Amino acid sequence: STIKDRYEMASSPFISLEFFPPKTEPGKRNLLARMERMTALNPLFITVTWGAGGSTADKTLELASLAQRELNVPVCMHLTCTNTNKLVIDEALKKAKEADIRNILALRGDPPVGEDWGFDEGCSEFSHAVDLVRYIKNQYQDEFCIGVAAYPEGHCEGEADNGLQDPKRDLPFLKEKIDAGADFVITQLFYDVEKFLDFEQVFRTEISSDIPIFPGIMPINSFQLFNRATKLSHASIPAKILDRFPPQIQSDDNEVKSIGVQVLTEIVDEIFARTNGRIKGIHFYTLNLERAIAQIVTNSSALSKILEEDNEDEVLDGDGDVV
Ligand code: FAD
Repeated sequence: STIKDRYEMASSPFISLEFFPPKTEPGKRNLLARMERMTALNPLFITVTWGAGGSTADKTLELASLAQRELNVPVCMHLTCTNTNKLVIDEALKKAKEADIRNILALRGDPPVGEDWGFDEGCSEFSHAVDLVRYIKNQYQDEFCIGVAAYPEGHCEGEADNGLQDPKRDLPFLKEKIDAGADFVITQLFYDVEKFLDFEQVFRTEISSDIPIFPGIMPINSFQLFNRATKLSHASIPAKILDRFPPQIQSDDNEVKSIGVQVLTEIVDEIFARTNGRIKGIHFYTLNLERAIAQIVTNSSALSKILEEDNEDEVLDGDGDVV
């Protein structure tokens, strides 16, 4: 079913989960088993990432199709439209439809590191995500439920805008994506709840009062990864959160994880408490790991309701590497 339909039926807080396609066969099998265990968290949907330029096309399609077939959870496949051939996009949409995948997250993608946008000859009809939204609508009408990305702290184009981020600058373009037919929004990861709440308010007043927004959250699995992920996604870390990780604990992964679970639980509960029913679910960037997410769901007063009818032990399994 579509995310839109599931969202409309959801009566209590839920989660959704992002995974990326592993490189190896054993990695894929491990991940599928993990995804299956995580269905105990009753996710509204799961998403599978797409490597920029179609670099993971086969693996993304394979994982997304398997998950759609084997797990009883709707799959949303990410798809990027720049730095790629239109045939790759056509093939991806065709195969997604054949696999019964009804949801696509329509993205622009980024140029490979060190290159600019001069290389895009093969696919000049796509320069922004809105072009992909329009294309899907045009080719498939309402057969796909379409999601788009949003940036509570503003999207950063690096040198093109001197690294300055401003959510207000992106707003007309986000509106364009919604007007083109996007059904839901997933945000870039953030740790500053105030910035998310400001964004949500502006979105509600200037773009749509009812389009679902799924706030994107990434658990903190190590201090190094936390630093790297926030730099890559240009997410700021409020001082009051950074202070929870004093230098003497930064290399102690267990301690960092445990504080990370507390911090994320507080973020999740604050979002629910301060949005008065307008935010119904949290989207987790899982990095293909399960433990921290199961713990956050267990500890969160809003999300723990998910577990009331399920056996939580099932999902508190180990976090071996998924390569
Ligand atoms: P757009 O909506 O096109 O926006 C990009 C920039 O262009 C923004 O600065 C916007 O303000 C500006 N803009 C938009 N339209 C116009 C216009 N008409 N004129 C002028 N400026 C305009 N990347 C991957 O490669 N694979 C993934 O699986 C993936 N998953 C993601 C999931 C989420 C939830 C998010 C938030 C990001 C994901 N990304 C992924 C990263 C994404 O591809 C990059 O952030 C990319 O830089 C922007 O994509 P977008 O779809 O937001 O682009």
